Amino acid sequence: MAYLDLQNVSKLFGTVAAVKGFNLAVEKGAFVSLLGPSGCGKTTTLRMIAGFETPDDGKILLDGEDITTVLPNKRGTGMVFQAYALFPNMNVRDNVAFGLEVTSGHPKSEIDQRVREMLSLVRLEETAKRYPHQLSGGQQQRIALARALAIRPRVLLLDEPLSALDAVVRVALRSEIRRIQLELGITTVYVTHDQEEALSISDRVVVMNQGLIEQADSPEEIYRQPKTRFVAAFIGTANQLNGDVVDNYLVRFGETTLRAPVPSNLVKSSKVVVLVRPENVLIHAAAPDDNTKNVLEGTIQTMTFLGSITRVAIDVNGTRLVTDTTAEMRTSLNYNQHVWVSFAPEACQVMANQ
Ligand code: ATP
Repeated sequence: MAYLDLQNVSKLFGTVAAVKGFNLAVEKGAFVSLLGPSGCGKTTTLRMIAGFETPDDGKILLDGEDITTVLPNKRGTGMVFQAYALFPNMNVRDNVAFGLEVTSGHPKSEIDQRVREMLSLVRLEETAKRYPHQLSGGQQQRIALARALAIRPRVLLLDEPLSALDAVVRVALRSEIRRIQLELGITTVYVTHDQEEALSISDRVVVMNQGLIEQADSPEEIYRQPKTRFVAAFIGTANQLNGDVVDNYLVRFGETTLRAPVPSNLVKSSKVVVLVRPENVLIHAAAPDDNTKNVLEGTIQTMTFLGSITRVAIDVNGTRLVTDTTAEMRTSLNYNQHVWVSFAPEACQVMANQ
């Protein structure tokens, strides 16, 4: 049975349906991210788990107990917010101790011991006497994490905890969060709009759009087998070639026919889109002699240097197709050059064009 179970949960704000019929079962110890564009309902979902919002419909179960209307401080959840959520007038020790001090029955020695454990967990033992303004943004968020974990929550909830930090700190801290989560084995729900963040630290990613779940799967499945066009477009870069189904292995694309596995529900003449990731597209200065691949001709539009790769955009009969090349290959390419691209039928994913 799922440890945290959201069953058909909905939330309306006036006429805005922020979350619609949301179903999510989270296993004990799993790290699940809610990912999606601004306004898709991520924070509202998290706030309903925390108890800061009450669903208009549906149920939330934690370890088999219905917590839908239980007060936030009685749920056993720990929350980390976007930024600046530490108490500015309290030092680090008192911030971390706060949750234990407001619940009666903890002797001072036990609280001190727990604070030391938490500061050691986030590797900031030396900061106990400092005040929040004497810490960097990244350190403040680590203390916020220590504070959320000090009460031994059943579930850890994080709402865009890294979005106010600079890029380098963000990358370092996200692996810290994952390390700590794995060390404690704590069930975690993490809200972010940053796909790289979600894909890099989660066991499961829930992609949301307009209050609905588009797909909930492992990071690899989300990237390699997007189930909807929205997911394909939102995660990474996907070339999208519009065409019509010819048969179960052929799609008409302009004057050419592409070989691609067509799902059986898409019958002849259906309007479809063929998705192919840039890293699966090869670029050639001369026509490739490889009849196992799909081959298209086009003209180079732009070349963007991105460090380890150069992203090349090619105009193929009015459709923009991008591919990633090495610096070595890049030197033999020029703007407006006539080129060929090739990609394997297996690298294509065909979806209904709705
Ligand atoms: P962001 O990444 O921008 O924080 P989000 O995916 O977390 O977005 P939510 O904050 O959950 O999205 O908001 C979902 C929808 O509900 C939005 O249309 C938002 O304007 C609306 N909304 C959220 N909270 C309230 C509120 N308290 N009152 C009215 N509308 C709200």
